[in-house]
Amino acid sequence: MNTAARRLLRTGPVRNVEALSRVSPSLVEALCTLKSGEQSMVRVAEDDRVLQLSVHVSRFRLRDEAHALASIQDLRNELEEKEMEAWQRLTRVLTHEIMNSVAPISSLASTARRLLSQAPAPNDADGTPAPHELSEIASDAQEAVQTIERRSKGLISLVDSYRSFTKIPHPTFTIIRVEELFGGVRQLLRVQISEHALDLHIDIPPPDLQITADPELIEQVLINLVLNAIHAVQDQPAPRIELRAHLDRRSQPVLAVTDNGPGIPPDVQERIFVSFFTTKEDGSGIGLSLSRQIMRLHGGTLAVRSSVDASSGTTFTLRF
Ligand code: ADP
Repeated sequence: MNTAARRLLRTGPVRNVEALSRVSPSLVEALCTLKSGEQSMVRVAEDDRVLQLSVHVSRFRLRDEAHALASIQDLRNELEEKEMEAWQRLTRVLTHEIMNSVAPISSLASTARRLLSQAPAPNDADGTPAPHELSEIASDAQEAVQTIERRSKGLISLVDSYRSFTKIPHPTFTIIRVEELFGGVRQLLRVQISEHALDLHIDIPPPDLQITADPELIEQVLINLVLNAIHAVQDQPAPRIELRAHLDRRSQPVLAVTDNGPGIPPDVQERIFVSFFTTKEDGSGIGLSLSRQIMRLHGGTLAVRSSVDASSGTTFTLRF
């Protein structure tokens, strides 16, 4: 097995195909039973990730010995990326069209409201309707125009929030101290943290840990994750969020955001990274898909581990 396959399946060198049953029995079955030239899809669900493997096997004889050459490809990334691209294209067109229509509505509504407020007091001596009628009509019109103005402003800010989804800049890589990164996030969210009286704990062993990444983009990912965590813990008796960073077995930096919220049910967990999926009344469903895309642009991953019954809460893990 080559390095890419070992990394993909998170395994060391293996002696035979059966040894892979630890990763997935259905992968072993596919490798053993696929006929030459056949292909099959194998889904591997692990604690913190799901792989969608396309397995292809070629069988041949060489010097009277039977050989099989298998190629394994994780299509999940590619599928997700294609889906994300399609959503981004659609969102770009929609936001552009909506903005073009709503911006003039909003500004005309504000002009109309100003004009109405300057309307001269009616004079009933020259046959105009009685003062109370006109002022009522004017105030009704003013109220209507005010509603149009308010709603169109709301629509503009909603559409604006989708813009970040369509424009993810290419990362500019620099070396960042994780301590500074976490400190910056705590500083930016200090109002929400104190409002919810929650305990935000930062743990970085080793404290001088550094990562090579785009500081603004990774800060955006962390803000998305911490805001979701704040939302998740808001009804907990002792709300707690932990930001942790360490080096994994391969000496790769790992950042994690953990909350002691109610956890995410498995059927919801399947969909949380899908663009526009949300369970919140006022949610946009772009935070996690945007964050995963940012991690992909860093050559990394964003994964979740959550349980609803063990009350161990939810952990989002960023691997670089
Ligand atoms: P939004 O926050 O607008 O809903 P996201 O993409 O950030 O969009 O999140 C998608 C969904 O994932 C949320 O609606 C929620 O159901 C779930 N989710 C995300 N983070 C957590 C968390 N820490 N605990 C529980 N559920 C979460």
